[in-house]
Amino acid sequence: MAEASPLVPEERNLIDGKLVGASNGGTFDNINPATEEVIGVCADGTKQDIETAIAAARRAFDETDWSTNQAFRSKCLKQLCDALDRSRELFRSVVVAEAGSPLLLTHAVQCDGYIDAMPYWAELAASYQYERDLSDIQFMGQRQCRIMRREAVGVVGAITPWNFPLYLNLCKLGPALAAGNTVVLKPAPDTPWCATHIGRLVAEETDIPAGVVGIVASSDHQVGAVLSSDPRVDLVTFTGSTETGRRVMAAGAATIKKIFLELGGKSAAIALDDADMGLVAFASSMVCTHAGQGCALQTRLLLPRSRYQEGLELVQAAFEKLAYGDPTDPSKLMGPQVSKKQQERVLGYIEKGVEEGARLVTGGGVPAHLPKGYFVEPTLFADVDPDSTIAQQEIFGPVLCVIPYEDDDDAVRIANNSIYGLSGGVYSASVERSLAVARRIRTGTLSINGAQWFDVDTPFGGYQQSGVGRENGVMGFEEYLETKVMGVPPTD
Ligand code: NAD
Repeated sequence: MAEASPLVPEERNLIDGKLVGASNGGTFDNINPATEEVIGVCADGTKQDIETAIAAARRAFDETDWSTNQAFRSKCLKQLCDALDRSRELFRSVVVAEAGSPLLLTHAVQCDGYIDAMPYWAELAASYQYERDLSDIQFMGQRQCRIMRREAVGVVGAITPWNFPLYLNLCKLGPALAAGNTVVLKPAPDTPWCATHIGRLVAEETDIPAGVVGIVASSDHQVGAVLSSDPRVDLVTFTGSTETGRRVMAAGAATIKKIFLELGGKSAAIALDDADMGLVAFASSMVCTHAGQGCALQTRLLLPRSRYQEGLELVQAAFEKLAYGDPTDPSKLMGPQVSKKQQERVLGYIEKGVEEGARLVTGGGVPAHLPKGYFVEPTLFADVDPDSTIAQQEIFGPVLCVIPYEDDDDAVRIANNSIYGLSGGVYSASVERSLAVARRIRTGTLSINGAQWFDVDTPFGGYQQSGVGRENGVMGFEEYLETKVMGVPPTD
C-alpha cells in the first residue's frame, strides 16, 4: 500500500465566525469507505445550529459592507486561495480517506485542479463590471438614460454531495462569495471534513468577517432542508440527486427562493459506425472512475449494430483489465462506493438489470479479493433495453449499459430518451459528423472523441431534470447576482 499523508480531522463547524461543536454536543462518525474504519467524528449540527448560522449570514449581509466592497472581498478570497494552497496535502488525505477517492484523482479536479482554479473567483470579484449603461431610450418625447447594476442576491444556502467534496464545496463558495453573498454551507454527511477544514481556514487564515461563511455539517438531512425553507435565505444552490433537488425546489416555493440545481445524469456515449472502437472501449471503461460516482460519466454506450460484437468485445476486455481497489494506491482509478448504503443501492440496480433481461457480460458483484470496504466490481451489461430501469435511472456505480442502435437517427433518439441531460459523447472518424450528431443531443456538455471540456471558466450544468442554471465561468458567477435597472435623467 502506498504511503498516505497524515490525516488531520476537523470536528468543528463554523458558525458566526467561531469554530464550534454542535449545540447539543452531538457528534457523528466519519467512515473510510475503503476500510470501513471510523477515522474520527464531526460535530453533528442541529437545526438550531443552522438557524444560528443563517442569522449570522443575514446579519453579515445586511450590516457589513461585504456585498459592496469588492476589493476587500477579492483580498479575502486571495487569502483563502493561499490557505488552500498551503493545505493541499491535508485535503488530499481527507478526500481519499472520507470519500474513498482514488489518490490519482486528487491531482485533478478532486483536489489540485480546483485549488488551482480558485484564484479565478478572487480575480473576478474585483474585475467584474457590476454596473454598466444600457442604451438610451425615448419616453414621451424625452431621452432617458439607464444604468444596469448587478448585485449580490443575499444569503446563499449551499448543499453539497459527497462524490467530489472539496471541488463541490469550493465551486459554490468561490463564486457565491466573490459575487458578494454570504453563505451557509451544509456538506454531505459522508464527507464532513472537507467542508469543516475549509471553515477552519476561513476562520484562522482569512479576514472574512464573522457570519459571511457558515459551515454546518450534520448527519441529519433535515438540517440541510432548513436552508430551503428559511425565509432569511435568498438563494439555494444545490448539488445532488434529482430526487432531493425536487424536494429543495418544492420547499423553496413558499418563499419564492432562487433555486440553482446541479442534479443527476444518465449520459450517453454514441460510437458512430466509423468510430475508433479501441478508443471507444478505453473511454467507456472510464465510467468506473471513482467507482462510477460522477454525475457526468457516460453510463450508456450506444454501439451501431454493424459493429456491435466488435465494440462489445473491446469494452469487455477494457473492463476486465481495469485496476481497482485501494484508493491510496496511485495506480488505481477506482476505489469503493462511498458507503454501505450506496454499495447496496448499486448491487440492487445490478439485480434489477438481470431481472429485466439485460445480459451481464462481466462483474456484477462484490469483488472476492476485496471483502473489506464498500467495493463493487466493474460491471458491464449488454443488450440493454433503452427503456429499462438500468438504462433510465442513475445508478452512480461502476456500471455500463451497452445498447445497440440501427442508424444515426436511432442513436440520437435513444440518447435523448432520458429525463436527464447533463453530458455525453460522440465518437467518429469525422469530427464534422460527430458535431452534427452532438448538436442534436439535449445535454449541457458533450465530448467529441474523448476531448475534455471541463474548466473553471466553463459553464457546466444540465438540460431537463439534470438541473437549473450553470456552475462555473462568468455564467456561474452571475447565478449569484441580482439585476437592478435604474432609469436616470440625462445629465449631458
Ligand atoms: P443527495 O441528493 O442524496 O444529497 C445531496 C445533499 O443533499 C446532501 O448534503 C444531503 O444531506 C442533502 N439533503 C438530503 N435531503 C435533503 C433535503 N430534503 N433538503 C435539503 N438537503 C437535503 O445526493 P448524494 O447521494 O449525496 O449525491 C449523489 C447525487 O449527486 C447524484 O445524483 C449525482 O448525479 C449528483 N451530483 C450532481 C452533480 C452535478 O454537478 N450535476 C455533481 C455531483 C453529484
